[in-house]
Amino acid sequence: MDWTELEGMISAEIGETFSIDDKHSLGGGCINTAYRLQGSNQSYFIKLNQASRLAMFEAEFAGLEAMLQTHSIRVPRPLLTGVSESTAFLLMEYIPLQASGDDQAMGTQLAQMHRHSADQFGWSRDNTIGATAQINDWTDDWVAFWRQHRLGFQTRLAADKGLERRGVRLCEQLAVQLEHFFDDYQPQASLLHGDLWGGNAAYAADGGPVIFDPACYYGDREADLAMTELFSGFSHGFYTAYQQEWPLHNGYETRKILYNQYHILNHYNLFGGAYGSQAVRMTEQLLSLCS
Ligand code: ADP
Repeated sequence: MDWTELEGMISAEIGETFSIDDKHSLGGGCINTAYRLQGSNQSYFIKLNQASRLAMFEAEFAGLEAMLQTHSIRVPRPLLTGVSESTAFLLMEYIPLQASGDDQAMGTQLAQMHRHSADQFGWSRDNTIGATAQINDWTDDWVAFWRQHRLGFQTRLAADKGLERRGVRLCEQLAVQLEHFFDDYQPQASLLHGDLWGGNAAYAADGGPVIFDPACYYGDREADLAMTELFSGFSHGFYTAYQQEWPLHNGYETRKILYNQYHILNHYNLFGGAYGSQAVRMTEQLLSLCS
C-alpha cells in the first residue's frame, strides 16, 4: 500500500488536501486488515485486502451506499475504493463505535430500512458473505431465488468441500420442498443488510445505532432478523421495537431455521468442522416440518 498515493486519492475525492497524521491499526475484522486514518480535521476507516479482492470492496461500497440512501439506519458513508500497489482498499467515514446505545432505535430503524423494496429479489451485483461468493441475479420468485442462489449454491460448495453425502442429499431434498415454508406467506423484496450478526452492529457516541460490513440484496426481511438471532447479541428491546414498527408474520420461527441454515452451511464452507453436522441437523429439522 502506497500511503502517499492514497493521500492523493483522498484529497482528489474530497477536494482538499488530506494527509495522514496517524495510522492506528484496528483489530477485530474477520477478513480484512483495518485502520483508522487520522488527519488534521477528519478521520477515515480503511479496510485492506489483496488486490484480487477489489470486487468484494466495490460490492461493500455499493451496499453501504444503498443503505445510506434509505435514510433509515446509520451506516458509515463510503468514500473511495480502489487499488494501490498490490492492495485493494475500501475507505469510509470513521465512526467511533460502542457496544451499547439505543437498541429500540436499532429495531425501529432496521424495520424502516426493510420498507425499501424492489420489484424483484436479488441485487444489481453479486457480493460476498464472509469470503464466499453470493449470487444476486434478479429473480421474480423468492422461493426460486433461495433454492438456486442461496441453498443450492451453498449445497454445491459443501459437497465439494466434503460434507457427508447424506447431508448433501438432505439439502437437495429440502430445496425441492421449500414451497412448504411459504404456504401462506409472500415476502416483499426488502433491502437487507444480509450479514446482520452482532459483530456488524454497534452504536455511535450519541447512542444512535450503526450497522456496517453488509452483504446487501433485496430479499425477505425475515432473513435479516433470523441472522440477528443466530449468534445472539441483540436485545429484547430491539425485537420489541422492530415488531412495533413492522410486525413479523406467523411462520417466522420456522423460516428462521431455514434462513440460518444458509449461514451455517456457509460457515461449514468457510471453516469446516462441526458446522457440517450442525447444518445437517438443521436440515433434518426443516425436513421433519415438511411431512
Ligand atoms: P471485516 O470486513 O474484516 O469483518 P468490519 O467491517 O467488520 O471488518 O470492521 C472491523 C471492525 O472495525 C468492526 O468490528 C468495527 O468494530 C470496526 N469498524 C467497522 N467499520 C467502522 C467504521 N466505519 N468506523 C469505525 N469503526 C469501524
